Amino acid sequence: MFLGPPGAGKGTQAERLCDELGLAHLATGDLLRAAVADGTDLGREARRYMDAGELVPDEVVIGMIRERLADGASSAFLLDGFPRSVPQAEALDAMLVDLAAALDAVIAIEVGRDELIKRMLGRKRPDDTPETVERRLRVYEDQTRPLFGYYGDRGLLRTVQGEGSVDGVYGSIKAAVPARAG
Ligand code: ADP
Repeated sequence: MFLGPPGAGKGTQAERLCDELGLAHLATGDLLRAAVADGTDLGREARRYMDAGELVPDEVVIGMIRERLADGASSAFLLDGFPRSVPQAEALDAMLVDLAAALDAVIAIEVGRDELIKRMLGRKRPDDTPETVERRLRVYEDQTRPLFGYYGDRGLLRTVQGEGSVDGVYGSIKAAVPARAG
């Protein structure tokens, strides 16, 4: 699992890691943007939250992940952008019990606030206006930060510095992946 603030580079690093290790990439942000682009009911509902910099309701993203995990297509996967709240983490625990699966590691990518703001404003997505960027960072601190304790208490958390070159960060991530997952 990747944990980290919006703009930390999770998506970029996840694609590379999944390619190299043959993992399925489960990214709730990508799944939600695809639903928005397809104009599905779920996409229409999700869009209101995304445009405001808020989290999409837990039951929506939990349902999306449950569907992907249940299709059984992949034995190894990387969660990117999920969970983002304690209720989502608890739901994930229950899904993993059902699948008789376990998390190998939670890799937290840390990037300073100024750098995050610069990156998000630079990528010009519809949900990257100055107001939503502020809101998303606040939501991250309020709702996602508690997961550091949640996974730290289980001995799963590994923290990686997310500033510097993409290659440099990737090297740190590779070093943090336990051998079992590789
Ligand atoms: P970033 O890493 O920049 O936050 P994402 O692509 O991961 O971008 O997410 C974009 C938006 O999708 C979030 O701001 C949020 O509204 C929604 N989203 C993604 N994952 C979740 C989640 N696990 N729970 C709730 N909302 C989510």
